[in-house]
Amino acid sequence: MEYNDKLARFRQGHLNPFNKPKEEESPREDGEQEPSKESPPGSPLRVPEFQCLERVMDLGVSEDHFSRPVGLFLASDIQQLRQAIEECKQVILDLPEQSDKQKDAVVRLIHLRLKLQELKDPHEDEPNMRIILEHRFYKEKSKSVKQMCDKCSTFIWGLIQTWYTCTGCYYRCHSKCLNLITKPCVRSKVSHQSEYELTICPEAGLDSQDYRCAECRAPISLRAVPGEARQCDYTGQYYCSNCHWNDLAVVPARVIHNWDFEPRKVSRCSMRYLALMLGRPVLKLREINPLLFNYVEELVEIRKLRQDILLMKPYFITCKEAMEARLLLQLQDRQHFVENDDMYSLQDLLDVSIGRLGASLTDIHTMFAKHIKLDCERCQAKGFVCELCKEGDILFPFDSHTSVCQDCAAVFHRDCYYDNSTSCPRCTRLNLRKQAQEPGEEKW
Ligand SMILES: [Zn+2]
Ligand SMILES: [Zn+2]
Ligand SMILES: [Zn+2]
Ligand SMILES: [Zn+2]
Ligand SMILES: [Zn+2]
Ligand SMILES: [Zn+2]
Repeated sequence: MEYNDKLARFRQGHLNPFNKPKEEESPREDGEQEPSKESPPGSPLRVPEFQCLERVMDLGVSEDHFSRPVGLFLASDIQQLRQAIEECKQVILDLPEQSDKQKDAVVRLIHLRLKLQELKDPHEDEPNMRIILEHRFYKEKSKSVKQMCDKCSTFIWGLIQTWYTCTGCYYRCHSKCLNLITKPCVRSKVSHQSEYELTICPEAGLDSQDYRCAECRAPISLRAVPGEARQCDYTGQYYCSNCHWNDLAVVPARVIHNWDFEPRKVSRCSMRYLALMLGRPVLKLREINPLLFNYVEELVEIRKLRQDILLMKPYFITCKEAMEARLLLQLQDRQHFVENDDMYSLQDLLDVSIGRLGASLTDIHTMFAKHIKLDCERCQAKGFVCELCKEGDILFPFDSHTSVCQDCAAVFHRDCYYDNSTSCPRCTRLNLRKQAQEPGEEKW
């Protein structure tokens, strides 16, 4: 019955997505960037196709020959359609080549075939899930009209065409295009390889690609004959207009070397890869470009905050109250901040560039310190009294004026520690005790 409902809705909505004025088209639900308007005349995205379709729809094809009260579909409908298709094919052959009439007939044929497909309801016999080249494609239920197929770069008409989205990389395509996919899912690349290309736009030249698209091998050139060559700023390679939609993305190599966050044009595949990698902490700034810390002041501040947070972590994982208050979850979007102090994701760096990371990390730091030093007796009890001067407030390793013994983790005033030539009275005491015990141990 679901099928009949679908059909009913299809008919009530007047049926023809092609006839919809452009303004009425529902916005994309996923908020993804729309394909570029700069597509060349040869591209399948161009508009004239639709104008052409509309023109023909007016010639009577759009009339719903097969309308009937819902639920009254007969096998003969499919038969009639098949017959109409055959007749239409014959008409096309009989009409003069390239004539307007012949073109109209071709469009009519397409329309009839779509009708036939609709009547046969492909939605029902296509599996819900398909695994192809490590993509995990799930059949989409949404009927929203304006989607683009990542394989053939034409619209996906949700009402009449079945389409799939990969849950790994969000690759989206017609069911008819599934078997044409040649690129494995970038999700697997993200989990296996997990590394960025860190050379800025590493171009090798079109000749090294044999003047073909780096992805689908379609012939391309900079003169746009036979196909336009579009460069991907991330890989440095050239792509055809089907594989490169002029999507914009921030390129990690430019961020790391130039602190440049200007989005550049990248291929579809790079765009998906970069989107999946965005939150992954794979950039070891200290090794890739230590000079960045001299140049970007905020990074120094953030490094200090991260080191402090790591020093606070032992307090939280041994404090029931802190665990119950789920304090460490403040950092759940940046789990790596609780694990180390030198790995960064591209998202971290983007947030640094707009001043957001420093601010939010300072807030978290303040909240953590407040728990340990003021709110929680249990944590307070784990503070230190400076053993060198035995004066002043309780010290914590993340306090700014302190030094921590690398061996026993005791905390001292920084000044006291340096005055005592950085030797630790606690370690000295522990060593003495150990030596005193050793003769006793020999008895055993
Ligand atoms: Zn397609
Ligand atoms: Zn995928
Ligand atoms: Zn291509
Ligand atoms: Zn506590
Ligand atoms: Zn002291
Ligand atoms: Zn010590």
